[in-house]
Amino acid sequence: MPLRAPLRSAHGTEAIRDVVLVRVVDDDGVTGWGECSALAAPTYTGEYADGAWDVLTRFVVPAVLAGRAPQVREHPMALAAVAGAQADAAARRAGRSLAAVLGGVRSSVASCAVVGLAPQGAGAGDGPVGDVVAAVAEALEAGHRQVKVKVRPGWSLEPVRAVRAGWPDLALAVDANGSFDPAAPGELDALDGLGLAYVEQPFAPDALVATAALARRWSTPVALDESITSPGWAEAAFALGAAGAVNLKPARVGGLAPAVAVASAAAARGIPVFVGGMLETGVGRAHALAVASLAACTWPSDLGPSTRYFAEDLAAPFHLRDGALVVPEGPGVGVVPDADRLDQVAVARTVLDR
Ligand code: MG
Repeated sequence: MPLRAPLRSAHGTEAIRDVVLVRVVDDDGVTGWGECSALAAPTYTGEYADGAWDVLTRFVVPAVLAGRAPQVREHPMALAAVAGAQADAAARRAGRSLAAVLGGVRSSVASCAVVGLAPQGAGAGDGPVGDVVAAVAEALEAGHRQVKVKVRPGWSLEPVRAVRAGWPDLALAVDANGSFDPAAPGELDALDGLGLAYVEQPFAPDALVATAALARRWSTPVALDESITSPGWAEAAFALGAAGAVNLKPARVGGLAPAVAVASAAAARGIPVFVGGMLETGVGRAHALAVASLAACTWPSDLGPSTRYFAEDLAAPFHLRDGALVVPEGPGVGVVPDADRLDQVAVARTVLDR
C-alpha cells in the first residue's frame, strides 16, 4: 500500500506499507479480518512483515487450525492478527460490534495528528522548521485536536519552540521514539518547560529505570509507547513510576485481550491511556478504534484518519468528524476490505485449511 507521503521518525522512513492481513472463515462461512501491524523492516519492533508471514503460515495458523493455542513467543503482532480475525468473526456471529464486545463506551475518539521528522507537505514552509509549522497548521485545519511532533536528539527544541510560538495554547506533544541517551538528558530537560501534553518514549524501550527517574523530576507527563509490549511489562513500568501515560498499540501487546488488560491496569492506577497507530490499513484501524472506545482511553488517539496516510485505503476510509474518529457500530470490526482494492495491491496470498 503506497503511503500518501513518506513518514520519517527516529526509526527510519516508511514509504510503502507492506502489511499482512488474515482472514478467517469458520465452518458456517462467517468471516473475520485481522491485520498484522509489523512494518516491512524490524526497526520499530523485532517483528517485520515477511517474518510475520513466515511465522503465521508455519506456526500460528496451523496450531489454530488444529485447535491448539499457538506456542509462539516474541511475535505479538502476528498473534494479534489471527486473534483479531477470530474476534471479528465471533462478534459478527453474535451480531455485535467489536467495541461493544470489548466493553467500549465511546462512540468517537478525539484525534491527535502526528507530524514526522520530515513532515508531509515538506517544502510548504521555509526550511525544516517552517515545514513542521506548516504541517501543524495543516493538521489543525483538518480539525485534529492535538498534535504530536516527532523529535530526535538535535531536532527537538527548535521545532517545538516554533510551534509553541505559533499556537501558545495548542495541546502539543512530542515523540522521541526512544532516541535520547539517558546519560545526556540536557536537551530533553529543556523540553519540560514548554507546556507539553506529554513527551513520548524518550529512551530505549528497556530503559524503564532511567525513564522513571526522568518522570520523577519532570512536571511534563512521560508517555511510554515502545516499552509497553505486554501486560507484564506495562505492570513493571507502572510499578516503577515510569509511565505517566500509555500509548497503547493493541497489536504490539498481542491483540485485543492483552490490550484490554493493559488499559484496565493503567486505569486502576489512574494512568491515562491513548491508542496509537502503526500505519494500519482500515482493517487494523477499525480494530484499534474498538480498543480506543474503552473508558480507560481518555487521551486523543494518534490513529489518524485513513486519508492522512493512504490516498486509497483497503476499506471504506475513516474520516475526521469534529476532530474525532467515529468508532464503527456495525457487526464485528465494522469494516471489510474492498475486494477490488485488495486485488490491486495484494502481492501474495495463501490458504491454510483444516
Ligand atoms: Mg510513539
